[in-house]
Amino acid sequence: MNDTLPDETPYWQWLESVVRDVLTAYGYAEIRLPILEKTELFSRSIGEVTDIVEKEMYTFLDRNGDSLTLRPEGTAGCVRAGIQHGLLRGQQRLWYQGPMFRHERPQKGRYRQFHQIGVEVYGVDGPDIDVELILMSKRIWQTLGLRDLTLEINSLGSTESRSRYRRELVTYLVDSQDRLDEDSRRRLETNPLRILDSKNPETQNLLAGAPSILDHLDELSQEHFGRLKGLLDATDTAYVVNPRMVRGLDYYGKTVFEWTTDRLGAQGTVCAGGRYDALVQQLGGKAVAAVGFAMGLERLVALLRSSAANPSHHLPHVYLVTVGAAASDAGARLAEFLRDRLPGLRLTANLGGGSFRSQMKRADRSGAELAVVIGEQEMTQEQYGVKELRTDTEQLTLSADDLVARLSQAIVTA
Ligand code: ATP
Ligand code: MG
Repeated sequence: MNDTLPDETPYWQWLESVVRDVLTAYGYAEIRLPILEKTELFSRSIGEVTDIVEKEMYTFLDRNGDSLTLRPEGTAGCVRAGIQHGLLRGQQRLWYQGPMFRHERPQKGRYRQFHQIGVEVYGVDGPDIDVELILMSKRIWQTLGLRDLTLEINSLGSTESRSRYRRELVTYLVDSQDRLDEDSRRRLETNPLRILDSKNPETQNLLAGAPSILDHLDELSQEHFGRLKGLLDATDTAYVVNPRMVRGLDYYGKTVFEWTTDRLGAQGTVCAGGRYDALVQQLGGKAVAAVGFAMGLERLVALLRSSAANPSHHLPHVYLVTVGAAASDAGARLAEFLRDRLPGLRLTANLGGGSFRSQMKRADRSGAELAVVIGEQEMTQEQYGVKELRTDTEQLTLSADDLVARLSQAIVTA
């Protein structure tokens, strides 16, 4: 579980604000959900034999003896809230964000507390909405300047077609059981589809000859998948069909998709989702079509940090340097005057003394674009020194009005 330190939070804020703006522009509304839910909610939705429920949940008994779990993902809680508050009668476009908890082996890109922004749509059953979700995520990457993300898609079919496929896959794999890694051998009985996801090279070799789920789709799923691909083509959205892509949660059917990168090593999936039409009813609601995705914010922040992109919107426009004890009062007044006059101004004030030289060093380290200097002479003449910190130009001396004009220019261009 990580602390997010001040050198990294600007990337988080930038990411979160871009995502929020894009989701709002597409008509999605935020829902805020609790971090704790009854354990049973997750075992009933995610599935008893998934990695998450088998071994990754933080589960405990509260003082009443009720079993509670720190949420490992957001979809189950979102459906629970949707049913409880009657939100799922018409169409709903929702999103949420926050920490998720899974007791996994920590490694780069994989943590025990991590953060997701999740998006869910209820009451729309066509592939057009699957594509809307994909286009929305694509727009988020574009806005953030993230290239090199690959869209992978697959279809898991209907519950019936999937169990037909499961039987065939098991039949194929049972014969060569001894070539499977240990995890996969165990899954052969509990959750054979997850074997497709194995990172073990020998298992992957064996899977090369395995039957494909796409050859086992029922007619409706086939048609859905065909129209999905057509819509992606029509919107110039490149994709790779990956018939071995499954999800670690049981409730998915038909469309599944992931955005992946090879720039993050082994944990290369930054966003994953799909359709889960059966879940609302399974959790006690009416049958309501549902589709959603979640992006992993730690991985996206890592990508942003490794790309040239640099969020500068947190840096001060101005660092105020006050020279001499008497300048402190005048400095405090000036700082508040400028904040009144210039909404949006980011001003860091040094009112507590220090030599001119050391204050100019602090000004430079703050990342500010301008230093404003106020000393005895400036006070008496009501003139202020202005030095551009990122260029080689001479220091200017400006009146209060001219200073306001110069700073408003800095706010616009920053
Ligand atoms: P994986 O196969 O990597 O374990 P998953 O199928 O468990 O992924 P999802 O439940 O679909 O992942 O979660 C969606 C996204 O959340 C992932 O694509 C990833 O970006 C992020 N994510 C999931 N688990 C973690 C974790 N432990 N630490 C950081 N990010 C995570
Ligand atoms: Mg996982």
